[in-house]
Amino acid sequence: MSKIILTGDRPTGKLHVGHYVGSLKRRVELQNSGEYDKIFIMIADAQALTDNADNPEKIRQNIIEVALDYLSCGLDPTKSTLFIQSMIPQLTELSFYYMNLVTVSRLQRNPTVKAEILMRNFETSIPVGFFTYPISQAADITAFKATLVPVGEDQLPMIEQTREIVRKFNSVYGEALVEPDVLLPDNKACLRLPGTDGKSKMSKSLNNCIYLSDTPEDVKKKIMGMYTDPDHLRVEDPGKVEGNSVFTYLDAFSKPEHFERYLSDYNCLEELKVHYMRGGLGDVKVKKFLNLVLQEELEPIRLRRKEYEKDIPEVYNILKKGSEAAEKVAAETLADVKRKMKINYFEDMDLINEQAQKYR
Ligand code: ATP
Ligand code: MG
Repeated sequence: MSKIILTGDRPTGKLHVGHYVGSLKRRVELQNSGEYDKIFIMIADAQALTDNADNPEKIRQNIIEVALDYLSCGLDPTKSTLFIQSMIPQLTELSFYYMNLVTVSRLQRNPTVKAEILMRNFETSIPVGFFTYPISQAADITAFKATLVPVGEDQLPMIEQTREIVRKFNSVYGEALVEPDVLLPDNKACLRLPGTDGKSKMSKSLNNCIYLSDTPEDVKKKIMGMYTDPDHLRVEDPGKVEGNSVFTYLDAFSKPEHFERYLSDYNCLEELKVHYMRGGLGDVKVKKFLNLVLQEELEPIRLRRKEYEKDIPEVYNILKKGSEAAEKVAAETLADVKRKMKINYFEDMDLINEQAQKYR
């Protein structure tokens, strides 16, 4: 069986370092491993519209931002197909058929949807499109027969829902769809990177992000203002590293060579943590170190972005070509799905002959 990857992001803003460690960095590694037959990276504009119906301009403006972030992180259009969801009408059609395979109560139980409804204060006014977005995500994944979906932890329930739809479809209509596996980051800190405010998750919707395209000054300012341990008031106080965003970021980003380069009093992160917990290590020193680590990671991304920013029409062209290639694949899957469902009346000569017989 071919090894195929599908993943993507909502164009609701620029991408942040949570996306980077949760999914983006891994995608680039998988792309360059040469182990995958096809890689599809989708800008999920249709999904973003499910909770931004009154602000389509936001989505329209952010498509290019996400594309620039992709390219600057090293996604390579000659190796990966970068495309825009709404340009592939087959995805909508697949969703429509899958809707019949999912119950309302099953959707209501989806923990990610539940959490997002709370976060968006939808309460009783949940848009139907938003409520059903796990189904459209199943369409996205299955249209490309993806075997692997590298995402952050919040997406686990989505992939589970997709797997259920695949099993149901294949058992009702016959084998046509592939059950995908999920690929989560190995590093625990990257599963759900917290925001700079220490709140649950860095998220475009929560205004607690360090963006990949932030200037070095902005990154530094955000790090220096970051949430740490609220009880660590004086340098000599013992501090907590658990739930302390600065240390979670160091878990996610720091490597032993960073200590050699920037903080040679310590051999590794563990030693730094022990000192912090014992007392006598100030937040500012740790934050300054984190700043150097993060700047080193972000600098090449910034430089590549500047290059791509010089030719924006070319970036749109990359997305157009990617969308054309993606549409061909989705069209094949849709044709297969409709054949299995026997919604292919005009090519079904048995049906036509049978009906003719009946009326003879
Ligand atoms: P929105 O607020 O619009 O939902 P978002 O910041 O949650 O935006 P998405 O586009 O929903 O971003 O997520 C894209 C991908 O990035 C998903 O695979 C998701 O799991 C991953 N991801 C998002 N935020 C984080 C995070 N803080 N830590 C790890 N992975 C993340
Ligand atoms: Mg999200």
